[in-house]
Amino acid sequence: MNLQQFVRDVPDFPKPGIVFKDITPLLAHADAFRVAIDGLAGIAESLQPDAIVAIESRGFWFGAPLAIRLQLPFIPVRKPGKLPFTTHREQYALEYGTDALEIHTDALPAGARTLIVDDVLATGGTAAAVGGLVRRAGGVTVGTLFLIELSALGGRARLGDMTPHALLTY
Ligand code: AMP
Repeated sequence: MNLQQFVRDVPDFPKPGIVFKDITPLLAHADAFRVAIDGLAGIAESLQPDAIVAIESRGFWFGAPLAIRLQLPFIPVRKPGKLPFTTHREQYALEYGTDALEIHTDALPAGARTLIVDDVLATGGTAAAVGGLVRRAGGVTVGTLFLIELSALGGRARLGDMTPHALLTY
């Protein structure tokens, strides 16, 4: 099955000049979503993680089913102020300004082999920040996993040894 037929380009969203990869048609097609999760699960298994860390909010669509499929802990990384217990926070640069993400301080067992999951790899800034959170929480990132890699935006170089894997590359 060619999953790219379920990814819709939306020009100028959320602002002029961005071509947004809308994956809601894939989520809405039961076979396509299952094929995507099957493919991601195969990659994830080969990395032998102890935990899945997924990034709010679109990363949850993939991280949660993967954690269930692989029978691994699901660890959410969320926007500031959303996680109730004590947290680590990482700030990262956006095109204009900064944003931040948090993880619970006790989210990971010491040395846990951690796989970071999100929907789209663009510049890699978000996943790099999550790599910092995993390190501060005591884990080791064994890779990063995305449905889609936008290869022209250079995220792969930015992630270094947090090697990115993706089902679809544009
Ligand atoms: P980045 O930090 O630049 O790698 O951006 C990654 C985050 O932004 C991911 O959580 C994506 O969901 C989102 N994102 C960035 N660019 C796009 C795009 N063209 N289409 C869909 N999502 C995007």
